[in-house]
Amino acid sequence: MECIKCRAPNPEGKKYCGDCGTPLDLNLGPLKSLLESSVRDQVQSSLKEYFRDQKAAEFDITERVTNRLLGWAKILGVVFGAILLILGAVGIKSFSDVTGDAKKQIDSQVGKKKEEIGKLVKEVDTGADEIRKARDNAKQPACRKSTSPCVTTATIS
Ligand SMILES: [Zn+2]
Repeated sequence: MECIKCRAPNPEGKKYCGDCGTPLDLNLGPLKSLLESSVRDQVQSSLKEYFRDQKAAEFDITERVTNRLLGWAKILGVVFGAILLILGAVGIKSFSDVTGDAKKQIDSQVGKKKEEIGKLVKEVDTGADEIRKARDNAKQPACRKSTSPCVTTATIS
């Protein structure tokens, strides 16, 4: 039969292992219960350890997952922020392009109107000049002829 401790083969009927001296009679009550209890203790303690490790591992995993999620959130936040910034910059750029174009159009139109107004003002000025010259020309002969202080024809009539 096989020794329960060292697994050394022993002849049938032997009470003790020839190699390690462990009792070979499995029906030996006290030893069996002792072995069982020690095994149970070992199993229990190892189970406790296992569960403690499990818990620690779970906590570790939870912490790691949380950290990873936070990291992702940070990365996502940064990425979204960058995207928003890029979109914002592009949007503002296109908006400013549009407004810039509109401003250019308005400016050119305003410029044209200004030119037109300037021309009109010049025309008015030249017209006024012509009117003044004509009035002076009409006035001067009357003044020259007259010996009295120069008076306009309008005042006389
Ligand atoms: Zn043995």
